[in-house]
Amino acid sequence: MADFYVTIGLEVHCQLLTKTKLFCRCGTDYIGKDPNTLVCPVCMGIPGSLPVLNQKALELAIKTALALRCEILPQVVFHRKNYFYPDLPKGYQISQYNFPIGTNGFVEFFAQGTKKRVRIKRVHVEEDAGKLVHEGLGLPPHSSGVDFNRCGIPLVEVVTEPDLHSPEEAREYLVMLRSVVRYIGASDGNMEEGSLRCDANVSVSQSSLELGTKVEVKNMNSFRSVFRALQYEIERQKKVILEGGAVVQETRHWDEREGVTVSARGKEEAEDYRYFPDPDLLPVAITPETIAGIEKTLPELPLERRERFMVEYELTEGEAGILTQEREIADFFEACLMEFRKPRLVCNWMLTEVLKNLNELNIGITQSRVTPESLGELIKMVDRKEISGTIAKSILEEMFTSGGKVKEIMARKGISFITSEKELERIAREAIEKNPQSVADYLSGKEKALHFLIGQVMKTTRGQADPETVKSLLLKELRSGE
Ligand SMILES: [Zn+2]
Repeated sequence: MADFYVTIGLEVHCQLLTKTKLFCRCGTDYIGKDPNTLVCPVCMGIPGSLPVLNQKALELAIKTALALRCEILPQVVFHRKNYFYPDLPKGYQISQYNFPIGTNGFVEFFAQGTKKRVRIKRVHVEEDAGKLVHEGLGLPPHSSGVDFNRCGIPLVEVVTEPDLHSPEEAREYLVMLRSVVRYIGASDGNMEEGSLRCDANVSVSQSSLELGTKVEVKNMNSFRSVFRALQYEIERQKKVILEGGAVVQETRHWDEREGVTVSARGKEEAEDYRYFPDPDLLPVAITPETIAGIEKTLPELPLERRERFMVEYELTEGEAGILTQEREIADFFEACLMEFRKPRLVCNWMLTEVLKNLNELNIGITQSRVTPESLGELIKMVDRKEISGTIAKSILEEMFTSGGKVKEIMARKGISFITSEKELERIAREAIEKNPQSVADYLSGKEKALHFLIGQVMKTTRGQADPETVKSLLLKELRSGE
């Protein structure tokens, strides 16, 4: 079996989090809006209308480039990228050509336990195109409509060097990129809603010394589809080579339903965009002061935070990874530590109970009713053995669904503190005295009898004791009687 070398480069478009479009005042909140309700002469390219650059979009793009460790170019120049397509009313897209916002950056991330670095070739700003609609909206059968609401929405495009070597690495890179743009508030990175779109360049060769023929794969709209499309495309190219054929340089589309890539030959081949500077938009200078000002607003980034969590709280790379992927989760975790400083315990609760409840309710941590203070208080009580873990879990569930502080919920549900170990000892002794048969059974080797006794104690305490503590108390009593 021949060895194959896989090389992947990704181009990712992220929708920038601005209220208005890149060159006009139309709103960007197009999800669920009626077609062509968020349009004006500027984003429709009506002759005589003039674009005005959205400063917020520029700032967010610079911030993205800085977070990706890019060098920022001193001047931003917008070009017209000319092509004809029905969803492009102007006949050109305003983009950047030879002077992007940033170049020569990098992103680091963990893939299968090892830290990888992917070089970032360029970061630039461009406007989005519209969308063809093929069904619904009262369209006659076999016809298509165009929705221009998305025209002019600001995007930042992040292009990597071909530094990725497997579908797994590509996925981890995307997860990290999404995490970074979300941390810095540049994009919501919502792939399913189209805020993050990805194209890939894939090649396979039989020697690490030369690159294979590059194939571009488009139309992937989830992390899963990127992964599947890359897997499929790599296998397809290997097969072509093994059968003695030659991989054709082309653009292919990912067909999600069939799980295959399909050649898009003809339509997108031999593109000649005839780029030229947009005469309506003057070059914009980016001063060192502007860069320094934006740099100051950069938060601690996900990878730095992950590595700090590993050192400061002694968490594993995997645990720290889950806790830091979303800035809000990491913030919540650290706020919880202010209340109760045992990172190991808080981490366990976050990764199991908290995430489970969030998943069940299908909400983010900021939408939840639980505060870090109350979670901290709850875990502290479990740690002091004032309530059992089981009871604490039910209190937490209640906090998620109806809110409230720990003690309020305890009062509402009639849960009392486990007063002391002495009290538990007394209850355990009582259970032993009341059930001589079970004691005899246990002493004659029947393990099951012990579970019955534990159950009796749990019943008396109405489940408010820690089963492990009860077990050890019972064993102590039973052995002392031997
Ligand atoms: Zn507009």
